[in-house]
Amino acid sequence: MIDVIRLLPDSLANQIAAGEVVQRPASVVKELLENAIDAQASHIQLIIKDSGKTLIQVVDDGTGMSETDARMSFERHATSKIKEQEDLFKIMTMGFRGEALASIAAVAQIELKTRRNVDNLGVQIRIEASELKSQEKTACPKGTSIAVKNLFFNVPARRNFLKSNPIEMKHILDEFQRVALAFPEVSFSLFHNETEIYNLPKGKLAQRIISIFGKNYREWLIPCQEEIPLVRVKGYIGKPEAAKKTRGEQYFFVNNRYIKHGYLHHAVMTAFQEVLPKDGFPFYVIFLEIAPEHIDINVHPTKTEIKFDDEKSVYAIVNASVRKALGSHHMGLDFESKSFDFKIEDIASEKYNSFTSYTPKTNFDSPKENNYTGYQKTPREQSNLNNWETIFSGLQNKTVSSFEKESNNSLFQEETPQNASKNEPESIEGKTFQLHQRYIITQVKAGLMIIDQHLAHQRILYDKYLNLLQNHGNGRVSQQLLFPIKIEFSPADFALLAEVETEIRNLGFVFDILDNSILLKGSPSGMPHEQEKEILENFLEQLKNSVSELTNHSHEKIARLMASRSAMRYGTRLSVAEIQTLLAQLFSSSNPNYSPNGEPTMVVMDMLQIGQWFLSE
Ligand code: ADP
Ligand code: MG
Repeated sequence: MIDVIRLLPDSLANQIAAGEVVQRPASVVKELLENAIDAQASHIQLIIKDSGKTLIQVVDDGTGMSETDARMSFERHATSKIKEQEDLFKIMTMGFRGEALASIAAVAQIELKTRRNVDNLGVQIRIEASELKSQEKTACPKGTSIAVKNLFFNVPARRNFLKSNPIEMKHILDEFQRVALAFPEVSFSLFHNETEIYNLPKGKLAQRIISIFGKNYREWLIPCQEEIPLVRVKGYIGKPEAAKKTRGEQYFFVNNRYIKHGYLHHAVMTAFQEVLPKDGFPFYVIFLEIAPEHIDINVHPTKTEIKFDDEKSVYAIVNASVRKALGSHHMGLDFESKSFDFKIEDIASEKYNSFTSYTPKTNFDSPKENNYTGYQKTPREQSNLNNWETIFSGLQNKTVSSFEKESNNSLFQEETPQNASKNEPESIEGKTFQLHQRYIITQVKAGLMIIDQHLAHQRILYDKYLNLLQNHGNGRVSQQLLFPIKIEFSPADFALLAEVETEIRNLGFVFDILDNSILLKGSPSGMPHEQEKEILENFLEQLKNSVSELTNHSHEKIARLMASRSAMRYGTRLSVAEIQTLLAQLFSSSNPNYSPNGEPTMVVMDMLQIGQWFLSE
């Protein structure tokens, strides 16, 4: 028998290891930025082409490397950062495994230029798929420049696996922002396809936060500080008004390393609990300094998890520091009124939810099978309508098309809910009325139907927006703003906006592009006045945070987010004609039973149920 076990060639071993370290362009960005930080750079430039698929280059003005070190840096387990086992327990540098460069070099074409201060000439090294192509002396500035080209060029399966450019870019921005937040004393710039996206001067943490997230944060930051012998906490939390509807702007750093930690996140959330709406996520950038022997970061090269040996104490101090910060800003009064509002809403919805809900049996699609076709009525929609006509007695005397004609100037066409005639009595025609400006109650054959006006409107708008997007904006109607509004964006949001610009225009937004801002001149007809800015900002915020691994910014997603942002709010008073139009449009929509997010838009209580309330036993 012959022996079958053999050692893998280095290049193959590196390629396999690369699978762990290098998952996507953003992983390369992280490793290169961290190397520049470890090399004590004071200015770091990140240059990206095609979301990192063509080029990822980091230029720093740090220590540079000798010629031998430069060559060595691409060997696996080659590091200048630890020497012996003991060092593992007191790591203060970002890197230490010595496998990043070797892994990256195994799956890309690399060009390194580096020079130490003490050397007159630097060295240039080119490596492709772990293979040294050239090494020569060269004149170059002090510091290091590493260009990583055509990532995964030799591993087609992985290259094909990369996501769309916006998604890969979003991951890159995430990594860039994390490193930039952790090191405000270092200046950073970021170019993408020759456009400068960020230029962050050195400064204090607060300044860095403002340059990354936008000027609004100037008013929103509250410093947060606390210290016990085990750990020091410092950083900023956002005032409650900075809270977002989606998770995203929450950062923990332990010894300047970005981490995710559910338990510590909970510590912050409980401190905020009293002052934030249930679905709000607070902003925070919190740094913990803790002696390295009390933590274990040696879990996985790319993981952002960390273990503390005394987790409970860390939890307690984080919680206390956030509470104190909130308290110290005398916002108690402000908060109380806010949480009070929310309580009223909670009570209201609880009360109405306690009706047993019942959804009529029809052949409607389940919310999961979203196979929408837009506004033209398909045979299925027509049959939806017919079905509804049999249950909904209010429709017996009028056809939907006559509703549509009647409603030409109502809110669903050109006007906003706010402007709708406000003097209508709440009870309408005896059979249909609005309850607490939240639900529409109407008599149907089976009994009583309760329709959620906000969710119903979402469904209608979703169909409308999706139709516009799929037809390249054909048939869009915009309303001109009396005064154009300037809306400022953070550089990252602005980049995102540029990616969905066509779609936003197709929906009916009219605007000029300025420097990191837009001048909004018109908005889709029917969009609530004076809320255009908020709606657009919220939309981008949601879009940013809902970047999914699988899909691009699909039409469905854009339509869904836009509909949920711009649907009329609770508290909007509706006239008779508006209620009728709403119902008519809902029942001729692609899926009247459910909002685009799958929440039921209505419940029916049948006569039997109602009757049972009044039976004595
Ligand atoms: P690690 O950072 O874990 O040590 P890397 O593979 O990222 O491993 O880098 C290997 C070595 O190359 C580092 O230990 C460092 O000595 C050197 N090096 C990498 N990047 C730079 C840089 N930008 N400036 C100076 N030295 C660098
Ligand atoms: Mg490194």
